Amino acid sequence: LLYCTLAASAYAESSPKYKDPKQPLGARIRDLMNRMTLQEKIGQMVQIERIVATPDVMKNYFIGSVLSGGGSVPAPKATPEAWVNMVNEIQKAALSTRLGIPMIYGIDAVHGHNNVYGATIFPHNVGLGVTRDPMLLKRIGEATALEVRATGIPYAFAPCIAVCRDPRWGRCYESYSEDYRIVQEMTEIIPGLQGDLPTDRKGVPFVGGKSKVAACAKHFVGDGGTVGGIDENNTVIDSNGLFGIHMPGYYKAVNKGVATVMVSYSALNGLRMHANKELVTGFLKNKLKFRGFVISDWEGIDRITSPPHSNYSYSVYAGISAGIDMIMVPNNYREFIDEINSQISKNLIPMSRIDDAVKRILRVKFTMGLFEEPLADLSFANQLGSKEHRELAREAVRKSLVLLKNGKEGDKPLLPLPKKTGKILVAGTHADNLGYQCGGWTITWQGLNGNDLTIGTTILAAVKNTVDPTTQVVYNQNPDANFVTSGKFDYAIVVVGEPPYAEMYGDSTNLTISEPGPSTIGNVCGSVKCVVVVVSGRPVVMEPYVSTIDALVAAWLPGTEGQGVADALFGDYGFTGKLARTWFKSVNQLPMNVGDQHYDPLYPFGFGLTTEPSKL
Ligand code: BGC
Repeated sequence: LLYCTLAASAYAESSPKYKDPKQPLGARIRDLMNRMTLQEKIGQMVQIERIVATPDVMKNYFIGSVLSGGGSVPAPKATPEAWVNMVNEIQKAALSTRLGIPMIYGIDAVHGHNNVYGATIFPHNVGLGVTRDPMLLKRIGEATALEVRATGIPYAFAPCIAVCRDPRWGRCYESYSEDYRIVQEMTEIIPGLQGDLPTDRKGVPFVGGKSKVAACAKHFVGDGGTVGGIDENNTVIDSNGLFGIHMPGYYKAVNKGVATVMVSYSALNGLRMHANKELVTGFLKNKLKFRGFVISDWEGIDRITSPPHSNYSYSVYAGISAGIDMIMVPNNYREFIDEINSQISKNLIPMSRIDDAVKRILRVKFTMGLFEEPLADLSFANQLGSKEHRELAREAVRKSLVLLKNGKEGDKPLLPLPKKTGKILVAGTHADNLGYQCGGWTITWQGLNGNDLTIGTTILAAVKNTVDPTTQVVYNQNPDANFVTSGKFDYAIVVVGEPPYAEMYGDSTNLTISEPGPSTIGNVCGSVKCVVVVVSGRPVVMEPYVSTIDALVAAWLPGTEGQGVADALFGDYGFTGKLARTWFKSVNQLPMNVGDQHYDPLYPFGFGLTTEPSKL
């Protein structure tokens, strides 16, 4: 008998239940949690930045998650192989701990795998909302998942399902629409990223294997409703507004099995969301029955107090008590770990709260197969920036364009332009600038200026690719009036807009086209038939230039595949997009959204002219 017992326990030790994929999920989680020490549990709740994620730190603190925040890349132009090696090194350290619990690596892949050189960069969400095409979003999710996996990463901090109610907000381009219904439809990107939820798994976090990634619906909740469109500000709203405008996206996301939800920096009626137990625990976890994990934003709990980090004990207490499961610390992990330990020992934070957090994190890790296949290989490397994905992005660009004006009153429509003509002038700050085309959250947090940040096609290059070889394309970024009149151009394409920005750096009260864009419009549009293409993260002030312009196209932030713009300008495809945002006349009208009482826009929500593809 003694022999049998010993043998059985030896067997149990060599093959614990939690490592057995044939065991039911709940049994695996329970088994593992029964084995974990408090320090191992706390470690699961900590997400640190990759720069501090040395093997020793991973092992000594049992760290559960690592991220590349903002534009934290291993090296400029790092290859998929370099990424995979980097992620695997960190993973090996995690696996070498007593229980060998894999860490989960997360990154902001918010318009394609945007931190990575050579990845396909899709239009930012503001453009995708225009398409009103859920299946397109699903395909973009699938492509993004493959590109993220190409670099060995299983977790994307996307999609942002903010309902931007004020374009002065620097993150407005991360929002699909001012209308919650469009935001709801666009959550179809979630099954694209994660895979299709099996019918018996409704509402349960689900990630369908190695070609998919865990998604993250963010930022919970009301991030797009802050006063004045000021980033991280207070959202003042009654419950009709909260549950009727900002929450519906989360109903869909949870229903579609989103694995994680990120909390918003913003406050709601004065209370920081990172401290909002009623909504995070009471509503999201209990009422909506969200069973994945809730992650904080970057130093999000620090910002519960103002100034940030001024009372860290309170921040940790309030954030954990609110129901946040994983804390994006992301550098001061020791301070966080000490603080949470001390609060647990004083019974300020009950063990039941820690267990809830760890259970949710493990549930996601088990569900996505991380225990079975924790290490990445290069089998997806050729997906990064693949031809198929670039084609898909080009299609998305085409469908995201909104034709706002086509011919002055009484004139014939200007678009589509003929491919065969004498001379076309291409002008403007944004005509030959891939960095501007991609916007913020591209390679770096704030985005870049110029063409060598990554691989792609600028609008100028696309125009040259598209016209007949006999047509002369002349590029001058900011031509003077004399250049324009003496050049005898048949048509001009003027591409202007906003420079890249992200988060609070994009907050703006004037929403103007950046200089010298307006003077370029002035110099060109009076004397040549001109189409103005606006490359921007939101509607911008178009008065008083709009009357001098023959045709006007909103291209939003199209990303690397500028060819999609030329496809529509020259009639290979028709314009189909409809505004998913109200285009205001003057910033004094803001905030102004469809359905408002005094609605007097330049172009209303839903507006968009169409063209037929030309037969030439
Ligand atoms: C942003 C998040 C992002 C995180 C990690 C924060 O500043 O608000 O949207 O996921 O950084 O980069």
